[in-house]
Amino acid sequence: DDALHNEHFTLSPIGHVVSDYPDKFGIPRQPGLAPAAQATLVLTPPYNDPLTVRGLEDFSHLWLTFIFHQSPERWSPLIRPPRLGGNKKVGVFASRSTHRPNRLGLSLVALTDINTQNGVTLTLSGCDLVSGTPVVDIKPYLPWAEALPDARSGFAPNTPSLIEVIFHPTALAALAQRQDGATLHALIEQVLRQDPRPAYQQKDAASGRLYSVRLRDADIKFQPYQNSEATTLEVVAIE
Ligand code: SAM
Repeated sequence: DDALHNEHFTLSPIGHVVSDYPDKFGIPRQPGLAPAAQATLVLTPPYNDPLTVRGLEDFSHLWLTFIFHQSPERWSPLIRPPRLGGNKKVGVFASRSTHRPNRLGLSLVALTDINTQNGVTLTLSGCDLVSGTPVVDIKPYLPWAEALPDARSGFAPNTPSLIEVIFHPTALAALAQRQDGATLHALIEQVLRQDPRPAYQQKDAASGRLYSVRLRDADIKFQPYQNSEATTLEVVAIE
């Protein structure tokens, strides 16, 4: 019985993600919310044998099991979901918090390409992972078993509400200079409309504070504005 309780399992990454998100700040809180986010998953030897992905090209979506390697190992039984404004607590196992025992994450992502020329590289879209995230498993998504639109989902009953995002002409000019301007424009909009500001700062839109989020190799500066009821985020510079 003691042996059972002392069991340990060692995980080693099968690969790593290279994504449009160099930092945790700004990453949407679930996959699919920013479909313009591109990523690759580069498999590591010996898992990068093309045999490991034979047949995977016939699936449009994958489950990735990964390690929240940028989160501390310490965890506590209660966490504050950003959804609840940061002032109500729920059990860690009632949440998708990154601060959890074993630090395992689970994301459903779209698979757009598989390259087996030199090892194995999967191209993904819409993932919610910081660049460098270690992946420990891949499984194909089975919609007939796993899509349950009528399921209850507690404190996160529906897609998060979106806020308005506008671009200052200076930011638009900077985008026009870039080869990836069109897709970066879409990505910035999809990221900012989730309002990445911490819950406690979302209240003081009037402060005029300048925020910065890194996407790809760009530094995006944005500022909140309060108009009558709603907040608008304005992209003021792209460096
Ligand atoms: N869909 C996954 C899940 O449910 O397990 C992740 C949900 S978690 C709430 C999403 C957040 O994790 C992102 O907004 C990002 O800030 C953070 N994140 C992404 N990759 C991470 C990593 N490797 N280490 C720590 N935090 C990470």
